[in-house]
Amino acid sequence: MQVKYKKEPEYDIVIVGAGPAGATLARLLSPVYRILILDKKPIEKEISMQEMKCCGGLLSESAQKVMAEMGLNLPTDILIAPQTFALKVMDLGYPVERSYQKHYFNMDRAKFESWLIGQIPDHVEKRERRYVKEFHRCQDGVELIVKNRQTGQEERITTHMAVAADGANSIFRKKLYPRMAWPGYVALQEWYENDGGIDYYAAITDESITDFYSWLIPKGNALILGSALNLDDENLSPSERFRMLKSKLEERGLIFGKKILREGCEIIRPINNHLTTGNRKIALIGEAGGFISPSSAEGFSYAFRTARALAEAINEKGIDQFATSYARNCQNIKLNVLARNIKAIGMYQPLSRRLALKTGFGAVR
Ligand SMILES: Cc1cc2nc3c(=O)[nH]c(=O)nc-3n(C[C@H](O)[C@H](O)[C@H](O)COP(=O)(O)OP(=O)(O)OC[C@H]3O[C@@H](n4cnc5c(N)ncnc54)[C@H](O)[C@@H]3O)c2cc1C
Repeated sequence: MQVKYKKEPEYDIVIVGAGPAGATLARLLSPVYRILILDKKPIEKEISMQEMKCCGGLLSESAQKVMAEMGLNLPTDILIAPQTFALKVMDLGYPVERSYQKHYFNMDRAKFESWLIGQIPDHVEKRERRYVKEFHRCQDGVELIVKNRQTGQEERITTHMAVAADGANSIFRKKLYPRMAWPGYVALQEWYENDGGIDYYAAITDESITDFYSWLIPKGNALILGSALNLDDENLSPSERFRMLKSKLEERGLIFGKKILREGCEIIRPINNHLTTGNRKIALIGEAGGFISPSSAEGFSYAFRTARALAEAINEKGIDQFATSYARNCQNIKLNVLARNIKAIGMYQPLSRRLALKTGFGAVR
């Protein structure tokens, strides 16, 4: 539906979502624009564990590299113990386990998000607890229908262009690209009390649980058990397979403490035709555009890179001409996703994975 307006849109750019992608874009856009960033969550103070996005909170080397390119240094109070340098690979259908050197930073995700939001300059207006329900194209741009979660009131906001930085379950992606809307995977995570007994990261594979992978991440006094579960298994639900995962790990001798939290969210595992940068009026960045690693579900580097690619396109070409330039800036990012898809074939094919485990090639002794 196209709505007609006589007056100018209120904003040049409205960014929907203040996650790593949205907050980075807001930081990098030129002050010549009237910019609003909004999020359904609180953004003026650190969010609670319950409000935090379901995440492993590991900052990979590729994300560290983009941060270095952007001149960002990570404050140490975002880090959380343990900082460990190896990832244990466990194939639940194979007896040999190996550890591989990794250079992750273990972070408190809520603090990381607050810090990224804190980098947004004052010329960007922020509104928190605003849920974007719907959007329409209008004559000079886009109209957003937004629910204020504090007052329950609905407001209409007009903008020359909108940026969908609203993550895997993006309402923009669903409406604009219905064929590539369904994420295909659900991530479940449970947090348990941990007295330090499990102090390593683990990547766990088992084809009867998921065709992707599961993980263990110690986080302060807690331990996260997570799994990215495919939704096309007709026999067992994701919850049943998650329970099976925990039982199999207990059979291997792992002891889980008292459960603190259970959380879940959609997760995209893209192949290249799932990636999209949007159109002339609505740009998609981060996971909303499908940008996340299909081999590891690492997403911060893609959120940063797509946000930077869009900021450069807008700052250089303007809000009417950015689209082609943004799509071009994302070519290398798309190639990177393709390379990760190829890597995933070796990682998730039991024969090649077990051969690697058997030989110990590249493993920590
Ligand atoms: C279980 C799990 C573990 C992960 N672990 C890691 C990891 O360890 N390391 C890593 O690099 N990546 C990890 N990822 C991927 C990473 O979390 C994402 O790729 C990254 O957060 C994407 O950033 P984003 O800004 O695009 O989206 P998001 O982080 O999802 O942010 C979207 C924002 O939009 C807001 N929003 C959504 N819809 C609306 C709406 N309608 N109206 C208003 N606001 C809205 C949300 O509140 C949120 O703040 C993990 C993902 C999952 C699911």
